[in-house]
Amino acid sequence: MSTALDDHEPTLRVSALHALEYCPRLFYLEEVETLYVQDARVFAGRALHEVLEDEDDAMGVKHTLELESEALGLRGKLDALRRRNGRWLVIEHKRGRAKRDSDKRPIAWESDRLQVFAYAMLLEESTGEVVEGCRVRYHEDNAVVPLVLGVAAREEVRAAIARARLLRQSTERPPVTPDANKCVRCSLAPVCLPEEERLAKDPEWSAIDLSVKDLERRSLHVLSHGARIGKRSEELEIVTRTFATGETTTTRVGISEVGSVVVHGGGQISTQALHLCIDREVSVTWVTGGGRFVATAAAAGPTVQRRVRQYRALSDDAICLRLAKQLVHCKVSAQLRFVLRATRGEAAGRDAALDEQITGIRAALRAIARCEDTGALLGHEGDAARRYFACWAWMTREATDERLRYSGRTRRPPKDCVSALLGFGYALLLGDVTGAIIGVGLEPALGIYHRPRSSAPPLSLDLMELFRVAMVDMPVIASINRGQWSADDDFEIAGERVWLSDAGRKKFVGVYERRKAEEWRHSVVGYSLSWGRMIELEARLLEKEWNGAEGLFARFSIR
Ligand code: SF4
Repeated sequence: MSTALDDHEPTLRVSALHALEYCPRLFYLEEVETLYVQDARVFAGRALHEVLEDEDDAMGVKHTLELESEALGLRGKLDALRRRNGRWLVIEHKRGRAKRDSDKRPIAWESDRLQVFAYAMLLEESTGEVVEGCRVRYHEDNAVVPLVLGVAAREEVRAAIARARLLRQSTERPPVTPDANKCVRCSLAPVCLPEEERLAKDPEWSAIDLSVKDLERRSLHVLSHGARIGKRSEELEIVTRTFATGETTTTRVGISEVGSVVVHGGGQISTQALHLCIDREVSVTWVTGGGRFVATAAAAGPTVQRRVRQYRALSDDAICLRLAKQLVHCKVSAQLRFVLRATRGEAAGRDAALDEQITGIRAALRAIARCEDTGALLGHEGDAARRYFACWAWMTREATDERLRYSGRTRRPPKDCVSALLGFGYALLLGDVTGAIIGVGLEPALGIYHRPRSSAPPLSLDLMELFRVAMVDMPVIASINRGQWSADDDFEIAGERVWLSDAGRKKFVGVYERRKAEEWRHSVVGYSLSWGRMIELEARLLEKEWNGAEGLFARFSIR
């Protein structure tokens, strides 16, 4: 079988062949969609190789030889090789355990065999010598498996290369592997979401959480007006100045601890710091001093293939309407649940006016489910929103300062304290949602439901609908009812304009970030995760809606 490359076709990495043998979808996600996750397992694998390189040096073993062959269509970096009795011996190191045969003897896993054989063939090509001896060493159970590169093994490698090249040209993502155990050990599980995809196909499937919890990092809000964010090695350095005294304060935060940076007001971030953030997949959002979202910069995830599919799907009016209905239904359901929960105490002698609003929201929900066009959907959503906010009059405690009672939403500029809180909260949420969309590899400018109107990307506005109630409205009402806000100290009132003061913004960031970190059991996938991670999960579930695993996006409900 010929493996010679066509013009301009890049060689395949040997590790990609390993991925292909392990799971064709893993190969596709890495090679075609260029998705990589740097999780603890990947770092552990790297650390093992570093240790081995030191050990091997001491033993006089040649290691990490990089080879490429146009004839084979392959390239790769050998873990180690040794000269024995005038012949080369290729060695592959693995962190885990060997497979066992029926007599419990160690044997190599299929993907590891293929990998070490491919390296041996590369070595043959480069040295012109026959290489037959191969070994895979499994460090967890200290097992060494000897292998011989024979005729059948060579054919196996060539067939795998041909399969890989075919799959590389395909626009169809392969299905998840039927062997769910493989997913537990797969570094791409947090972005592939195999359990969620199984659930989409089988509602009885009990999904387990394969996300990487140790990658949860915090948001860094830089609130001081004259603050400067610079880079010091692997740290962000924030320098703030007290205007009255001219004193400066310097704080440093390791980039590995940061998930996103939010620059408020007139804060500055240096090009070097921005590069560090983008390089480490830390999104940066700018919000004006008045609490308006400006922009988000984030490392674009795997883009081309994903965006091509997104354009194709969202050019279809039927798909857009289906998703828009789901989105609006999810949001209005959350509004209804929140109103019912927050007015529970009123139940005995419930105000007839409140009941009328609740009945109206229920009717809007039924109409949304039956809706056949976007125009009508907008009408029902608007009706539900008016009724929902009208209910806020019953949701704050009697003793609340009149200035902190909701009196109708106003924006650009907000004209009351509650509108100022909501506007600021939605701006922070928009930044988080936009960062997640870009990170997942989708185009924020191409939306389902919202049309381009302002600087806010339409898809971000769409996705944000799912989280407005849970991540902003609920904490705002709860914090007002706890008496957390002072109309005099936390707001700046200038004529008809109301802004959060410096103290108010700082307080709100605390309220919002605490909510983001709160864990909540997702009613569809069945496992618990923080609200911050929920945003990313829903962005990934949205992408699956046009990739053969629909039915999970925007289905969750709040308690
Ligand atoms: S998570 Fe499972 S299905 Fe997805 S790439 Fe990995 S092994 Fe394949």
